[in-house]
Amino acid sequence: MEDILQGLNDAQREAVTSTEGFIRVIAGAGSGKTRALSRRFAYLVNEVGILPGNILCVTFTNKSANEMRQRIHALTGDNDTGFISTFHSFCVSVLQEDSYAVQYPKSFLVLDNSDIDAMLAIIYEERGLTLRNMTFSNARDMIEIRKIFKEPDYYLDMLAMPLNTLYQKYLNAKNTSDIIFYGYLYQEKKCFGLDYNDLIKFTLYIFQQDEEIKLKWQKRLEYIMIDEFQDIDELQYKLMEVLCGYHGNLFVVGDPDQTIYTWRGANIRYLLEFNNAFPNVKTIMMMENYRSTPQILSVANSLIDKNKNRIKKDLIPTLPKGSEVLCHHAATSEQEAEWIAVKMKELHGQNVSYRDMTVLYRAHHLTRTIEEVLLREKIPYTIYSGVQFFGRKEIKDALSYLRILAYKDDLSFLRIANSPKRNLGKRRMQFLQEIAATRGCSLYEALSQEIDNEIFKGTKATQFLSLVEAFAADYSVRPISELLSAILNESGYEEMLRTEGGQERLDNLAELKQSVYEYETSCGEESTLEHYLAHVALFTNSDAETDSDKVKLMTVHTAKGLEFPHVFLCAMNEGIFPSKKTNTIQGMEEERRLAFVAMTRAKTALYLSEAEGRNFDGSPRFPSRFLFDIDEGLLTYTQKPEDELVKEAQSFIAISDRHLKQDTEQTAFAVQQRVKHPIFGLGTVTDVDFVKGAHIVQFDEIDTPRAISFRAKLDKC
Ligand code: ATP
Ligand code: MG
Repeated sequence: MEDILQGLNDAQREAVTSTEGFIRVIAGAGSGKTRALSRRFAYLVNEVGILPGNILCVTFTNKSANEMRQRIHALTGDNDTGFISTFHSFCVSVLQEDSYAVQYPKSFLVLDNSDIDAMLAIIYEERGLTLRNMTFSNARDMIEIRKIFKEPDYYLDMLAMPLNTLYQKYLNAKNTSDIIFYGYLYQEKKCFGLDYNDLIKFTLYIFQQDEEIKLKWQKRLEYIMIDEFQDIDELQYKLMEVLCGYHGNLFVVGDPDQTIYTWRGANIRYLLEFNNAFPNVKTIMMMENYRSTPQILSVANSLIDKNKNRIKKDLIPTLPKGSEVLCHHAATSEQEAEWIAVKMKELHGQNVSYRDMTVLYRAHHLTRTIEEVLLREKIPYTIYSGVQFFGRKEIKDALSYLRILAYKDDLSFLRIANSPKRNLGKRRMQFLQEIAATRGCSLYEALSQEIDNEIFKGTKATQFLSLVEAFAADYSVRPISELLSAILNESGYEEMLRTEGGQERLDNLAELKQSVYEYETSCGEESTLEHYLAHVALFTNSDAETDSDKVKLMTVHTAKGLEFPHVFLCAMNEGIFPSKKTNTIQGMEEERRLAFVAMTRAKTALYLSEAEGRNFDGSPRFPSRFLFDIDEGLLTYTQKPEDELVKEAQSFIAISDRHLKQDTEQTAFAVQQRVKHPIFGLGTVTDVDFVKGAHIVQFDEIDTPRAISFRAKLDKC
């Protein structure tokens, strides 16, 4: 027991040992929330004797899930590590067990962006659309927005409509957006594909429709724990509510100052109103920070203090004093990048490894200049982006080789049948597509049936079929890592890359093999090919990270929950950070929280930088207001912007501030607004309490003002 509780403070110990009922931890960045959460898992298993399979532990990234799984495995020695996953990944597990309830086979496919693009390509070709009508990335966004906000019940169509009816709806669609949307739903249904947005919807729908399945999961999950609860969205919240409905053991941890996903539907009210939503909630606070030096914390505290709508709290340092927080002003982005590179070399000269340096930025497009300089200076680096690694062509191809063994699906077939070249070009594919359409079978089946047809003379179609058949016969008894190596070799895929001189692609495949191997060892018995394939679509490249000695480059969103010794936060300029798109007061506060998240990732040292120049729209670039937010004396300037520029920047910021609007979505009503309540009648809003998430309303018929939760129905009048 001492082992599990060792290195925890009193509040953390309390969080770990309070196992029953509804517990909420509200605590600052780096205060040990995630540490407490993982210890609590071990405590439940080792001390209380709960089976890991009866615990659901929701983490924000697959990477933290993997780490936790390995730790639990080491602690319990048990191969069954329970459900340690993201919400999406957990839904994949539910669907793998129970998708039959909505007539989806166990072999449903989880679609990632490149699968979606492959479907879009089919639709565009069929309907004569071009990228001028809509780019793929805009089409993906459009589909997502329709699914989340405009047609939240779309999935009922997908489930209830026969494939043919859906196809007709697509054929009858007239405008681009409808054509793409219904074409996509049709394509999805045709291959039993589910995208990110479908996973939680389908799971919730099954629970809603089938009392027995719901009860089974409710009973199974005796304990539920959720990390990064401040960024939970409505669907995830609903899912959680259902899941804890039987045992009522729910433990959530979050930090209101780190809400950075409201743009995707996250809502801080769920954390702040947790005590009203559930009975007998115990709230635990932790304020001490174990991550960063006092200098870094003063800077971060000073910044976040400028947000008006927040519970005031300061992070209290526990570490000894470190180096000053440096801030650099450069004349151009190139010079900014050069300054970063020089600092990195300096650090490297002092025996700091490259792997301990991380560059954080607001948006991906900012990496170009930095990459150029790092390349020139021969500083090794890797970019972490949501889709980059698993979205790469060679990785998708390799996974398609695995997928075709299990599912013989069309998407995989289209990717790899002619890669390496087997002389199965466009004309022969077209032929197969027609056969498949008339017979209602897959492309793979069409090829097997027609293999003796004249048209396949002079191709390597037969070899392709034998390859797949041979591997398909025994894939379920071979380790996935071995299967992957063998098929990449025997299919000639790796040979093709070698002759093309694709060393980088081969390196990526090696990295994939390593990640498959790690997956196998961490998942134990669950590591079947189907399980792997269903989950891999949700992995991002930070999950495939190997610990090589390279500088890391990533967006602040990706860095959430992580920590790094040396953090370079670059491009701290108006129009970049805060982003140009920010036009509401709430949006600006979210940008500030994002900057706060960035700074609180740093353990030993923090370097801020910005550059003069022009933005994409030609406007002059000013230092970010977030730098001005930080109290005098907390930053050490290596190079200060000139007084003239500072003056101009401040007047620019003042004007932009005046143009910020209230976000009506969030606050609903402004002070002085007349409103109508279904029970209390007419009243006037006298204040808005963001902490409680309520309007303070003076009702005409009631003497004292009342706090009315944002969730209650108030009408404008
Ligand atoms: P974030 O809000 O950024 O997610 P967090 O609250 O989850 O942060 P952790 O990541 O759990 O914080 O912990 C931050 C760092 O402090 C980690 O390196 C962790 O190992 C260390 N730490 C946590 N608790 C203690 C403690 N009681 N004593 C010493 N170090 C600790
Ligand atoms: Mg954490």
